[in-house]
Amino acid sequence: MQALSIRQLSKVYRNSITALRGVDLDVEQGDFFALLGPNGAGKTTLIGIVTSLINKSAGEIRVFGHDLDAEPAKAKNCLGVVPQEINLNLYDRLDNILINQAGFYGIGRKAARKRAQASLEQLELWDRRADIARNLSGGMKRRLMVARALVHEPRMLILDEPTAGVDIEIRRSMWGFLSDINASGTTIILTTHYLEEAETLCRHVAIIDQGRIVENDRMAGILGKLHEQVVIFNVREPLASAPELAGLGSRLISDTELEVQIGPGYDLNEAFKLLTDAGVRVMSMRNKANRLEEVFFRLTERHEDQTPEADSP
Ligand code: ADP
Repeated sequence: MQALSIRQLSKVYRNSITALRGVDLDVEQGDFFALLGPNGAGKTTLIGIVTSLINKSAGEIRVFGHDLDAEPAKAKNCLGVVPQEINLNLYDRLDNILINQAGFYGIGRKAARKRAQASLEQLELWDRRADIARNLSGGMKRRLMVARALVHEPRMLILDEPTAGVDIEIRRSMWGFLSDINASGTTIILTTHYLEEAETLCRHVAIIDQGRIVENDRMAGILGKLHEQVVIFNVREPLASAPELAGLGSRLISDTELEVQIGPGYDLNEAFKLLTDAGVRVMSMRNKANRLEEVFFRLTERHEDQTPEADSP
């Protein structure tokens, strides 16, 4: 069964900004899924709609088969949400925060206490249960947000930028907790602009840019594509068909323009040798701009821009 199924989701804000343009997305049960994209791509809007915080303009969403419009309570019961901003009642005790949250899902007080304990233990906060949230460190507050999202035992956990602005140690420890939660059977979707985060944690990744899904693949597939370069050779003699280049993909763009995919493990020297052996003489060449690489390039640039100070030595 699909944990999440999104069809033709669109969002136009009141100021007529179009944040989502017909998004289709499926996330399988048990998956660890990254929604990756630069700032302003539409990630928060998408998550906001799935978690009923933002109204969609058009489209259909199913959570474990429950239509969000037709069966909102059933759909919401399957979801645990960790928002980007810390929104805890800072003067409340940790155990009360979780027990109250369980109450929102109609869980009785006795059962809620048990669930609160299990969640706090899972996130290693049980020792602090009688403390108020204000006294926790930044990393612990984020863990408390995750514990709170898990208290009603949702089948899917959605996190919006779970490690934005936190130092590398907290980020790593959060990765450990999230991996364990996923290993215990909970489907996880997270948004991030940290490529490394997606690469470390996730099995599937969709890249969103300007409100459209521009890539959607297994992590391994995405990384494979990233390491491939595409070069266009202008050749001296017109070609009737693309030559066979052992191990490299090639196709004709026009009779004097040959596009060659140079995969991981190959270099330009080998491409030239294969072309020479095939009797093809190259006049000039250029790199084909790769859409995916462009998106990643911008992402990693922003990654560096946004590295929090705490990350600096
Ligand atoms: P991301 O989470 O990927 O950074 P967002 O979903 O926050 O992207 O934003 C997508 C687009 O929608 C951006 O152009 C943003 O300025 C716009 N946007 C987001 N929230 C609102 C809002 N409440 N009103 C108007 N425009 C918004």
